[in-house]
Order: sequence, then structure tokens, then C-alpha cells
Amino acid sequence: MRRDSYDIAIVGGGAIGSSIAYALSVEAGFRGTVLVVERDPSYQRASSALSASGIRQQFSAPINIRISQYGIAFFRRASELLACGDERPPIRVSEAGYLVLAPPQGLDALRSSHALQTSLGARIALLSPQELQSRFPWLAVWDLGGGCLGLEGEGWLDGYLLLQALRNKARAAGVEYLQDEVVGMSSSGDRVRALQLRGGASVSVGTVINAAGPYARAVAAMAGVSLPVEARKRSVFVVSCPESLPGCPLVCDGSGVWFRPEGAQYICGCSPDPASDREDFGLEPDHAFFEQSVWPALAARVPVFAALRVTGAWAGHYEYNTYDQNGIVGFHPQVQNFVLANGFSGHGLQQSPAVGRAVAELIAYGEFRTLDLSELAFERIAAGRPVTESEIY
Ligand SMILES: Cc1cc2nc3c(=O)[nH]c(=O)nc-3n(C[C@H](O)[C@H](O)[C@H](O)COP(=O)(O)OP(=O)(O)OC[C@H]3O[C@@H](n4cnc5c(N)ncnc54)[C@H](O)[C@@H]3O)c2cc1C
Repeated sequence: MRRDSYDIAIVGGGAIGSSIAYALSVEAGFRGTVLVVERDPSYQRASSALSASGIRQQFSAPINIRISQYGIAFFRRASELLACGDERPPIRVSEAGYLVLAPPQGLDALRSSHALQTSLGARIALLSPQELQSRFPWLAVWDLGGGCLGLEGEGWLDGYLLLQALRNKARAAGVEYLQDEVVGMSSSGDRVRALQLRGGASVSVGTVINAAGPYARAVAAMAGVSLPVEARKRSVFVVSCPESLPGCPLVCDGSGVWFRPEGAQYICGCSPDPASDREDFGLEPDHAFFEQSVWPALAARVPVFAALRVTGAWAGHYEYNTYDQNGIVGFHPQVQNFVLANGFSGHGLQQSPAVGRAVAELIAYGEFRTLDLSELAFERIAAGRPVTESEIY
């Protein structure tokens, strides 16, 4: 550590913390010192490294659609924006789209999301079962009411590469990364004054940003803040299939199962039943869940998946906002120098560019300028104003 005092200390250097660090480093109105405290620079447990890294415009809350529009514009230029000297990180979005399927009883909700998304400028096609069948002959459509396919601005990227590129660019611009763990905070009045580190040091801080992902609740508690964020385990399975699925997008089946191509193979997963979805910091993939729930649903939707072979699996954590499953972004109303960037509940990787930009502006100017994220403020919880988002996978 080069100093004993920093203007900004970011707890957690995953995609969210590193995006904020990067955005501060390029923000014309900000001139301060920035420290990122990251306990594991190998990111073995970080959500950003274990993510499915999808990006979509198909949300039902306008704020999430706008955040994704900012995100895709950033990702398309990320290789240039995050270049360090002549080295351009090879970040590329595979824009194969999301295909969100709905049973006949879900068609009205799909239509109304589609109307909202297209009114905001997203290019999404609403397709009948017959249109789905002719576009994707490998798909079983007999029980569907329809589906929405993103024609551009949706797909997936390499989340780990993005994280590393944000981190490298921030460091090149003068942000300091420290390998240590924040284990406590000392406060006086309504402000955090210093961070205590596991290594024994104490760092004085002007502003603290909580970007601790699935561990955000514990970090918030150090500042005396109660945050409704839990670690929820999500398993991802890698499968090979005897036949290829031409033009395969990221498919979200109405059953909660999703799958997409990953090189010559496919990755897939499923949202668990809410009744059994509890806090779980484990990293062991749930193979029984694959056998019982995921595989049957995959084979029902894509008959050739009946012959699939599992070739790998991993698990990571959603930083799950139990209040309304959307991000919590901005200064805490009581602890005045404590900023939250938490609770993205399965869509934080794609939201990292917009959140980084927004938090940097909030710090530099005391207001959002590019994208108004005030709807995501912590205050909504006490005020009973949830952000309603029906498209959480
Ligand atoms: C299986 C899976 C699939 C997903 N799919 C998608 C998807 O398709 N699209 C999408 O947009 N999002 C997806 N997500 C969600 C997305 O990955 C996360 O929302 C995002 O990565 C969160 O980033 P983060 O920086 O907040 O958290 P993390 O990447 O977890 O980073 C937090 C960091 O904080 C550090 N830390 C924690 N506590 C401390 C402390 N006290 N001191 C120091 N360091 C600390 C940790 O070591 C960690 O590196 C998925 C997640 C999972 C697990």
C-alpha cells in the first residue's frame, strides 16, 4: 500500500468494483486517489469469473433495459476502451441473441415486455410457434405460445476477460489494487473513517464503496448497514451434443432452464425452485439437480439433447437481492460516505459498465449524468418501492 489514506476505497475488485475503479480513472471531474481491496486476485470464488456472462435487452423494467443498452454499446467498444498501450483485450460479444420462450398462458406478459423493449429501441422479434420452428428446426414448439428473439445487442462474452481488462486498465491509470481482506470499519458520526485489514493495517478513507458481490451483506454490516443480499448458489453444466443446433441463441425456456453454445459444446442451468433457494456459499455443482430437473427440461425442448453428455460443471453465486432481485446503487442515506453497488441477482456482469459509470459520476459530481440510476437507490427498500422485474433467470 503506497499511502495510509485514500479518497476512495473499493471493497471487492470483481467486475463491479473494477468497473467503478476504471470509470473513476477516466472521469474528467474526478482527481482523487483510489484503492481497491481484493482478497483474492485469482478470483476463484468471484461471481464475475464464474458467470454465464450473458447480455440481453429483454427485461421488463425500463431501467434494466436502459442499463443494458449502455452495456452493449460499451462492450462493442471494450477492446478499444480498455486497451493498455498497444495491447487490446480481445473482448467480443457473440451477438447470437436471447430467445425467451413462453407457454400460451405466458403470451400476454411476453407481448407486453416486447412492446416495452421495442418502444425503448431494442430490436426484438416476437415469433409465433410456426416462425420459431422454421428458424430453429431443432426446437420443440408444440406446447409454446411464442417466443421473443433479440436480433441485435444480445448474446454473451468472456466475463473473466472483461474483469481482467477492467482491472488492468484501472491499474494502468493509477488505481492501486491491494491483496487483503477488509475485516472491519471504524466510524464516527455518520461516516466511515477507516478500514481494518486482515493483514493488520488500517486505511483512512474519504468514501467507501461496497462491491463485495455475494459477500456484500457482511461488508455492509461492518458499516452498520443492513443489506438484503444473500449468496445463492447457481450451477452451470457443460454438455456435448451429438448434433449441432444451427443458429442457437441463448434460450430461456419457460421451465426456468436456459442453455447456450460455448465453443463446440453447450452450457446450461436452471433457476431453482424459490422454496429451496437458500443462502449457500458452497461451490459444488448440484449434479442431482441436473439429472432430476435440468436434463428432462432440456430434452423436452430440444429432443436431440436426450443424447447429451455432461463434460464439466461449475457453480458460482448470485449476489441475490431478497427484496426485489435488482441492483442497489448509490450512497447510503444514513452512512453518508458509504456507497452501495450490490444485489444484481444474476445480471451484474452485463450491468457493470453502466454501474461503474454511474457511481463514478455520483462521486465526481454528486449526481448521475449519463444514466439516472436513482430508481435503484437503497431508499426504495424502506419506502416500499420495489423495482419490478419479471425476467430474472
Ligand atoms: C452461474 C452464474 C451465472 C451468471 N450469469 C450471468 C449472466 O448471464 N449475465 C450477467 O450479467 N450476470 C450473470 N451472473 C451474475 C454476475 O456474474 C454477477 O452479478 C457479477 O459478476 C457480480 O460482480 P461483483 O463484482 O459484484 O461480484 P464478484 O465478482 O463476486 O466480486 C466481488 C469481489 O469482492 C471480493 N471480496 C468480498 N468480500 C471482501 C472483503 N471483505 N475484502 C476484500 N475483498 C472482498 C471477492 O473476493 C470478490 O472478488 C451470473 C452469476 C453466476 C454465479
